[in-house]
Amino acid sequence: MSESGDRIAVTGTPGTGKSTATALLADEYDVIHLNDLIQDDEDLWTERDPQRGSLVADLEAIADRLGDWSGVLDSHLAHRFAVDRVVVLRCAPETLERRLRERGAPPTKVAENAEAEALDVILSEAVAEHGLDRVYEIDGTERTPQEIAAGIRDVIEGRRDPSAGEVDFTDYL
Ligand code: ADP
Repeated sequence: MSESGDRIAVTGTPGTGKSTATALLADEYDVIHLNDLIQDDEDLWTERDPQRGSLVADLEAIADRLGDWSGVLDSHLAHRFAVDRVVVLRCAPETLERRLRERGAPPTKVAENAEAEALDVILSEAVAEHGLDRVYEIDGTERTPQEIAAGIRDVIEGRRDPSAGEVDFTDYL
């Protein structure tokens, strides 16, 4: 069963569908969309990355700001914080490329993220940081946002076993 104080990270390469799926859980849990928090507060980032058009997050400042939080933290950096469980949302690199292009990401960012997804970069970081028994991989490629949200809900409520390494996107490389 879930405990009310649980901190659930929902991480994954940009474009995997984290924000869309976690938004569907907002009526049930406190959902923090870290990107929105960072965009709205210049104390939470250190510089602008001109090549990628993104902000460089200040992890310490963010941890301070989050304080004694519980709920769902949506961010490709969510696994870098002290959390109880980590959902790593995955998406086939070819699909990810299309989604990122459609949302206007620069070509360097599209290529970088698709390759990082194929190489399991965030999954590896999550396992290294939190251990295999706290990581839950969900392949969202062929799933609707509602189905992904149901998977995250299962993690929160203790109905799903940890899993990592079941997804293999190395064909892309
Ligand atoms: P993230 O928060 O991981 O960066 P988003 O939730 O912003 O990803 O989704 C990236 C893009 O993919 C958006 O255009 C969104 O509409 C689309 N998308 C999100 N989830 C799905 C899904 N399950 N199936 C198809 N497209 C999706």
